[in-house]
Amino acid sequence: MFKAMYNQAKLSFTVEPVTPLLIRSGREAFDPTRPDLEFIRIGSPYGQVVYIPGSSIKGVMRSYAEKILRTLGLWTCDISETKGSCAEKKQTEGKFPYEKHCYACRTFGSTELASRLRIVDAYPWRWDMTEGQRRESLARIKTDLRPGVAIDRKKGTVKAGPFELEVVSTGTFYGDILLRNFQLWQLALVALVVRDIDEGYQQLGLAKSRGLGRVRFKVDSLELMQLGPLFQREEICGVGEVEGLNDCYDLIKEDMMDKPSKLQTAPDGLFRRRFIPGEGDKSEEVWAEFAKALLKSQNWQNLLKEGKKIGNYP
Ligand SMILES: [Zn+2]
Repeated sequence: MFKAMYNQAKLSFTVEPVTPLLIRSGREAFDPTRPDLEFIRIGSPYGQVVYIPGSSIKGVMRSYAEKILRTLGLWTCDISETKGSCAEKKQTEGKFPYEKHCYACRTFGSTELASRLRIVDAYPWRWDMTEGQRRESLARIKTDLRPGVAIDRKKGTVKAGPFELEVVSTGTFYGDILLRNFQLWQLALVALVVRDIDEGYQQLGLAKSRGLGRVRFKVDSLELMQLGPLFQREEICGVGEVEGLNDCYDLIKEDMMDKPSKLQTAPDGLFRRRFIPGEGDKSEEVWAEFAKALLKSQNWQNLLKEGKKIGNYP
């Protein structure tokens, strides 16, 4: 769907561990000098470095977003069960599979539908930092080893272990959340997920139930872009404002809001209109103001009022 581009959002975020964080690499450690459960690494100009794959953040964001949608009584499938998930139903019938997908799949995608949302891998530096800043940022990352055991639930004895967990205890990871051709309610949903992860209601990585993975999760810069038919619009618009799309895609109505005071806008001469924080305004505060406004937007209110309910859908 949406072969053209109408709008884009880039939310640059930081992840900082509050309690030790372990994002596990898929491969087993055969090297006996390495810990049993290693933090995932990737090759970089600075050698092998720890990082957080976008997919592991996206997975956590999706399952948390599903919980929010279900709590609001809105249509959400369960992708962990093949039976009953949107992808499992015959989505290819008909021209517009988008409208046959639940609100979670419409945002995070399914095997039959491309995702509106992408997450760029989070590295221990931001790519626009100077060489010196990158090295400094990388030097702030500290890894530790923690002993771990698996307890037999019935007997209360040690079932496996002790083994070693490699965790990151300090430092900052930098990544981006990208949304393309979104409706305002989807950005509002992302804002709720980001808020709750930052407040500690959802952890990242392994051994969450044992206290690991509590992080600070902050949007520290943002940029919105409107193109094509939305290029001239000075309000912030979702794709619901593009004429003719509503009927094809079963979009939520009234997909626009006034620009928050701290976002500046101008066409930038390249046939796109950008919205960015005003000079001297802290991006974090701009995001906080914007996130609040999104939850008051008519589009989010309409989703709550008129969105398809769990009970109405098979
Ligand atoms: Zn679904």
